[in-house]
Amino acid sequence: MLTLRPLPALSDNYIWTLAGADGRCIVVDPGEAAPVEAAAAEGLRPVAILLTHHHPDHIGGAARLRERFAIPCHAPVDPRIDCASHRVGEGDVIAIPELGTAFTTIEVHGHTSSHVAFHGAGVVFCGDTLFSLGCGRMFEGTPAQMLASLDRLAALPGATSVCCGHEYTLANAAFASRVDPDNADLQAAIARARQARERGKPSLPTTIADECASNPFLRVDTAAVRAAITDHEGAPPASRADAFAALRRWKDGFRA
Ligand code: ZN
Ligand code: FE
Repeated sequence: MLTLRPLPALSDNYIWTLAGADGRCIVVDPGEAAPVEAAAAEGLRPVAILLTHHHPDHIGGAARLRERFAIPCHAPVDPRIDCASHRVGEGDVIAIPELGTAFTTIEVHGHTSSHVAFHGAGVVFCGDTLFSLGCGRMFEGTPAQMLASLDRLAALPGATSVCCGHEYTLANAAFASRVDPDNADLQAAIARARQARERGKPSLPTTIADECASNPFLRVDTAAVRAAITDHEGAPPASRADAFAALRRWKDGFRA
């Protein structure tokens, strides 16, 4: 039995840990070392670090943790990540024998040019590609690339736990509601997130099935989201990628 636990870090990041009964765990995207060191003082024992992309809020604590615990650090091929011990790309499997499990690397470019996700043990660590009720900004990719990346994640088994890099769910909720106001699954997802946050808990993980039912960025093929995009643009999108691009642009300029 493995236990997922997000460690809040920086302003709104989560450092994800997945631990066995004995506390041995992987650490995903440690933007700072202190929250992991604090958890280690209470029994968590890091055995590997996984990094999804090069942004400082995801890797800032990795060099220190790698040295402190003498553990491997798996990261995509990118010179901007200099603390890696092992490089991974599409389809590469990272075995974690201490947890009796393994993670497959999925290249999900778009937020950055080398962003990856890790899928295994019924969980996907998706960094800043997929958020609950939203998706990452396209800093280094095209809409077609980002859409292809989200398609890859959406195709994972519905029960897969979605572990995103940030607590953005409620921040994303207003835009999602504007785009897809009649979606009862979306309103239920927002209600769940609100309840969790009011109790001081993370709104994550969600599941792939939840996101497919509620996240407008995974629903550009639905009649409701297409109609909203058409209404906002004044003309129907010429392609899926155009629909996605219009939706992302709309959100970039959206103020609740
Ligand atoms: Zn990022
Ligand atoms: Fe981030």
